[in-house]
Amino acid sequence: MVFDSGASLCERLERIIGEVKRRSRGQEVQVLAVSKGQSVDAMRQAVACGQKAFGESYVQEALLKQEQLSGFPLEWHYIGPLQSNKTGVIARHFDWVHGVDRASIANRLSAARLDSGLSPVQTCLQVNLSGEASKSGVPPQALEQLAAQVSVLPGLRLRGLMTLPERTDDPDMLHGRFSELRQLRDALNLKGYGMDTLSMGMSSDFSVAVSEGSTIVRIGTAIFGERDKK
Ligand SMILES: *Cc1c(COP(=O)(O)O)cnc(C)c1O
Repeated sequence: MVFDSGASLCERLERIIGEVKRRSRGQEVQVLAVSKGQSVDAMRQAVACGQKAFGESYVQEALLKQEQLSGFPLEWHYIGPLQSNKTGVIARHFDWVHGVDRASIANRLSAARLDSGLSPVQTCLQVNLSGEASKSGVPPQALEQLAAQVSVLPGLRLRGLMTLPERTDDPDMLHGRFSELRQLRDALNLKGYGMDTLSMGMSSDFSVAVSEGSTIVRIGTAIFGERDKK
């Protein structure tokens, strides 16, 4: 969906939620408002329209916003790349982490979460389906081993899989990627992993993702408009 500057933020959010409902065939789908690069004022507007879950990619920016919005009962998702020197602060300040793609990071997150005394972080494993070397994510062949390692960590709760497909306007390609992620999750669930989450779909492709079984769409631009570039 493209950004409609003639509509209010609440109208844009409602249209997205409506489109998600039409595509989801009764499945619960969460709309995560991706607020990286957006102002706290814009986030307050979203909160006023009933939005509770926000996705951020830059730790310092996210912490400032969390402080300014601490009066609201919000759910914070870390969707950025994970570096080992940031795992402590991420473990203490986020409810969800979407981009876990290696055991060393998972171990550090889990240990820091246990230290914090908080309940386990809701965790998605990021899968690199395109094979592009520049992309984060575990390759599909290594996914099962990572799932096995993460599922036993006491500070993490393995909820599902996340992917970021390569940029493309080809709907068949997108359907293929999203359906591949669903099949990977379903195959692991047959082995007992019990994952209920597929974090897939952004502003440009969430309709396709929801039709392929997404349970969390991560939407920035279509809600807020262009963001400040880092
Ligand atoms: C920025 C970002 C999004 C949101 O992208 P939009 O195209 O603005 O909807 C979703 N997922 C991840 C991982 C991101 O980094």
